[in-house]
Amino acid sequence: MSNFRDKYKKQKSDLMRRHEDSVADKTSGQFGSICDLSKIPKGVGFWKCPPGQHVIDIIPFIAGGNMPKISGGTIKKGEFIWLVDLWVHGYVGALEYPYICPTKTNGLPCPICEHLSENKGSYSDEEYNNLKAKRRTLYLVWSHDNSEEERKGIQIWEVAHYFMENNLKVIAERPRGGGTIPYFDPDNGKQIAFTRQGSGATSKYLGHRFDDREGPIPDEILDQSFELDSILKYATYEEIFAAFYGKQIDDEERDTAPTGTGFESEPEQEEPIAEDEPPFSEDELAPDECPAGGQFGYDIDQFEACKECPNWDDCYATNQELVGEPEPEPVVEPEPEPPKPAPPRRVQSPLRTPTPAAAPQEEARKPKPALRRRG
Ligand SMILES: [Zn+2]
Repeated sequence: MSNFRDKYKKQKSDLMRRHEDSVADKTSGQFGSICDLSKIPKGVGFWKCPPGQHVIDIIPFIAGGNMPKISGGTIKKGEFIWLVDLWVHGYVGALEYPYICPTKTNGLPCPICEHLSENKGSYSDEEYNNLKAKRRTLYLVWSHDNSEEERKGIQIWEVAHYFMENNLKVIAERPRGGGTIPYFDPDNGKQIAFTRQGSGATSKYLGHRFDDREGPIPDEILDQSFELDSILKYATYEEIFAAFYGKQIDDEERDTAPTGTGFESEPEQEEPIAEDEPPFSEDELAPDECPAGGQFGYDIDQFEACKECPNWDDCYATNQELVGEPEPEPVVEPEPEPPKPAPPRRVQSPLRTPTPAAAPQEEARKPKPALRRRG
């Protein structure tokens, strides 16, 4: 038994406890529509990538049986891979939850892609861009941003393909046909350094480079790796239809729903988006992050930015949970202000309601979906 392993064995319970402490952000309602949070191993949470410089390792995993059929390439169950590559419709329906696009991810019919293919002309470029599926990646990362992050071990990172994989692909290529740099390799890989500038719509990811690691990825980190694809939640056509149109699909619509995948009208595309227009801007905000710099769940409606905050609903829900917790025992020192209950800011409904541009009486068979307007 090596010294290291001996020590590790003794400290394992501490490591596991610290791990479990880091899971607080698993409760997001929004991620819940593309990930089955119950399938995430105990102790693993989502990594937040705040503005600033970062150094991470990408940790490979063994593919389970749930890898995307189309965007996942030819990876089979049991093979090693370093990412899950998928396409996501970002803000679907009144709840504005993300859904994995069945067409681009798995080659199956998608009600949103069908709608866009039939109604492209009725949307502005911005509206169309907000509705169409965006390419996303899931990684297992080990962050070296600070010792606290390092102690958390493996975390899940969900990020636009455009921001990371797109850049890593380029710098991983050795010149003159010299193959590629396997940056995710546990023994011969590299650390990835990059800078995130700004947040929300102004996010930029810059200066990606590989740095030498001090040594191989330790066993106790590798052993936290798990089948990352196992957490993916592929919603059915009916579920996405209901979320998108705000009503259940009826028999007539089911019968007339196109059976193709939509590939013919929606050719595969890498994000053709200028650097100053990140493809999925607001989504870069972590689901339990306060974009105004306040404390998520506590400072609800304390800032001007709360009015337009994409995380308002989750913040409110968290606030309600906090309010429901038993009060701590009174102490002599004055306690920090307890969380304040806040009324829903929308009087009639806590959810955003669709605002169709025009609603002629005898129009399309299907109602128009909720649109998200920005800017
Ligand atoms: Zn789709």
